[in-house]
Parts: sequence; C-alpha cells; structure tokens
Amino acid sequence: MGMSKKIYPKDNSALRVQPGVTQPSNLNPELSTGLHRFKKEKPSTEAFLKGIRAGNRSMLGRAITLIESELVGEKETARKLINLCLPYSGKSVRLGITGVPGAGKSTFIESFGLQMIARGKKVAVLAIDPSSTRTKGSILGDKTRMEALSTHPGAFVRPSATSGTLGGVARATRESIILCEAAGFDFIIVETVGVGQSETAVAQIVDFFLLLMLAGGGDELQGIKRGIMEMADLVVINKADGDNVRKAGLAKKEYENALHLFPALANGWAPQVITASAVFRTGLDAVWEQIETYVKLMRLNGWFDKHRQQQDLFLLRESINQSLSSAFFENEAIKGLVKGYKQQITEGKLSPYEAAQKLLEKYFAEMKK
Ligand code: GDP
Repeated sequence: MGMSKKIYPKDNSALRVQPGVTQPSNLNPELSTGLHRFKKEKPSTEAFLKGIRAGNRSMLGRAITLIESELVGEKETARKLINLCLPYSGKSVRLGITGVPGAGKSTFIESFGLQMIARGKKVAVLAIDPSSTRTKGSILGDKTRMEALSTHPGAFVRPSATSGTLGGVARATRESIILCEAAGFDFIIVETVGVGQSETAVAQIVDFFLLLMLAGGGDELQGIKRGIMEMADLVVINKADGDNVRKAGLAKKEYENALHLFPALANGWAPQVITASAVFRTGLDAVWEQIETYVKLMRLNGWFDKHRQQQDLFLLRESINQSLSSAFFENEAIKGLVKGYKQQITEGKLSPYEAAQKLLEKYFAEMKK
C-alpha cells in the first residue's frame, strides 16, 4: 500500500511559508483617534462631555475612572461632569443581573448582550463586586470574561471598581450609568454576585432585576436568600441544556411555586420563571420578551418613572445617612468619648439609647462651636 507512491502537491512542502492567521490592522478601534497619546493630560469636563456624547469608549472609561477616584480634586471634576451629563441621561433600560458564582452570569451576559446588539441596541455592562472591595480578589473582574462582548464595537464592558465600600462602589456604578446613558447606551446591565448585600444596592439603581439560577443543587434555594428571590422581576434557570434539561424543568416548577407564595407586587407585575442556556443561546428570546413587556407595561401604568423617583429619593436619604454617620464617627470629640461609652454599655452600666443621645448632643454642640 502506497504511502510512498502518493505524489504530494508541491505546495505541501515543509518549506512553504504558511500565511497563518491574518491579524486585524488595529486591535483597539480607539487607538486610531490619537487619544491614547494624551493619556497623562486630564481632559477638561467639556472635553469629557464631548467625547462621551460622541460615544468614545476610551473617554467614557476614563470618565468612569474619574468618578471612582477618591481624590478630593477629582471628586469636584466628577461632580461637574455628572451634572453636565444628567440632561442626556435616563433614557436607557437598566437591568440588574445577580446569581451565585458559577451560575453563568458572564456567559449569559455575553450571549444576551450580543443578541441585544443584533437587535440594534447599544449595551453597556457594569459590575458591582463586593469581593473586590474587601479582598481585592475579584469574583467578577477577571479579564477573560465576556471577551466577544467587550471587544464588540456596539458594547462597553467595565469591570467592577476595585476599591471602596459597597456604598461607594454602588454610588460610582449609579453615576457610571448616567455617563453610559449620555454616551448613548440604551441598555445598561449591572452585574453583581448574589451572595451578600450588593444585590440590594443594585436593586436600588436598576429598573428590572433578573435572578440567574441553577437547577439541581439539591436544595433549590442554593445560598440565594429569600429576600433576593423577592426582589426578582424574572428568574432564569440557566444551563438548561444536555442532561440538565429535565432538572431545569423541575426547578422551574419549584421556583414558580415559591414565587406564588410571595405577596403580589404593587406594580402589578407577576415574576415568571424561564429556563435558558447561555452556552447554547436558548431561552434568550423569552428573556428579552419579558423585559420588553415589563418596560412597556410599567411605562403604561406610570410605575417606570415612579420607581426611578423612589430610587432617587432613597439614594438621597442613604447618601445623607452615610455622610452624616461618617462625619459623626470621624469627629475627634466623638472619637474620644465613644470608646468609654462602649465599655460602659458592654458592662451594662449605660443604656445604648442614652449613650447615643449623649453622643449626639455632644456632636451638635461641637458643630455650633
Ligand atoms: P459566573 O461566575 O456566574 O459569571 O459564571 P460563568 O459565566 O463564569 O460560568 C461558570 C461556568 O458555567 C463556565 O464554565 C461556563 O462555561 C458554564 N456555563 C455558563 N452558562 C452555561 C450554560 O448555559 N450551559 C452550560 N452547560 N454551562 C454553562
């Protein structure tokens, strides 16, 4: 049998130079704008606004970095920039997505985001990741996530801020939404890990809250607290593919039963359960339909705007509470007293209410000085 008899075509010679994979002429579309050459110079707020309004992603990214900055001087610039962007904001649909690590959030957001882009939407993805604020080891922020989406010209993907308190990160995300809206993104996804407080913070800044779940984790409520289920406008059971389809169907029934036990929502919405596969891209149309129907209905019954107003008033209160509280505890006179009072309280010699009253009186007396 004749390997030796076979005549190989000439161009199969080992000496032939293979062309290899052709490279795109420019990997980063922003590089051609020349902006990268001026990285060190801070643009003026007007230049930021112009860049953002023109949909320049690199400018948008730098503006978000500015917003996340803890530097006093930058905070002032950030405040000005947000005010300049506010008139152009508010027109997007803000979608929160939460789920335990491994539920498939990034895979889902990539598939769903690409599908929305195919529908002609511009999609921005922001993240609130409590792990990165505490340990610097981020659950959400790793670079290989959402590769196809983050390099797509119709999308903007921003990993979670890596410093600050949850309140601070939530605030930066809320303000980043404003900037993304001014940049013309009409769909903004805020991703968070469903393991702690962060989803409550996300619920305060989004219009629609999607909970991504897995089937077959034994006890179906896999670490997701009941309270998070209650916040969901839609439950999606991901990985409903292959051997998992049947289990996903059973989980769907179980979640539907659980949702029925919750009191009806004031806005008249009844959250549904959908099975989907982020990898095989099934069920995504149904998810889109749910979101579209929700937005349509809530606009019709006035809840969409009312909900945002309620959120803004909540954020006002929250922001005041936080500022007052940190000013209080950082006050030198208070610092001097707190330790002793704490001691007395733990020894049962002083009521916590009385201590609070005394400290507040002291604080306000200090303020008058
Ligand atoms: P995240 O931690 O919630 O962001 O989850 P990832 O998106 O990183 O997904 C965790 C793992 O689940 C990865 O190995 C994914 O490939 C896999 N995964 C995500 N979605 C699906 C799905 O729809 N079907 C299957 N079979 N695997 C999936």
